[in-house]
Amino acid sequence: MSQPDTCVFCKIIRGQIPCLKIYEDAAVFAFLDIGPLAEGHLLVIPKEHYERLDEMPADGVPALMRPLPRLARAVMQATGADAYNVLTNTGRAASQEVPHMHVHIIPRRSGDGLGYRWLAKKYEAGRGEQLAEQIIQAL
Ligand code: AMP
Repeated sequence: MSQPDTCVFCKIIRGQIPCLKIYEDAAVFAFLDIGPLAEGHLLVIPKEHYERLDEMPADGVPALMRPLPRLARAVMQATGADAYNVLTNTGRAASQEVPHMHVHIIPRRSGDGLGYRWLAKKYEAGRGEQLAEQIIQAL
């Protein structure tokens, strides 16, 4: 597990690693992804080091999300894209490479060929109800 002193994104916030900074407030830092899936691909991160969304205090999440509409509008205006994906990879199995919670804003256009496999399945009879109950119990 990475710690703030070795974490790449913490180093970016501290100015120890260069980045193309887009936005900063008391709780949030946003910059261009160095390996963009599309021009204007942004990363939005909490200044506090949390590896995963599910480790964040609930109070910290609204502050992280607050600048997203404004950032998304600015990315669309600057790039001419009229669509975008907002996503968070959490955990290795979900392709999280940098263990500091981050939100991707990825500009999209029709026919850009990005996409991803959305292999929708169906629940067997009763399984949805069972799972819903288990998740509610775990809340
Ligand atoms: P994820 O797979 O969700 O953990 O995504 C991590 C993202 O961080 C990738 O898209 C990388 O291109 C990006 N990234 C890693 N190091 C840097 C860096 N020094 N500056 C900007 N983006 C970075």
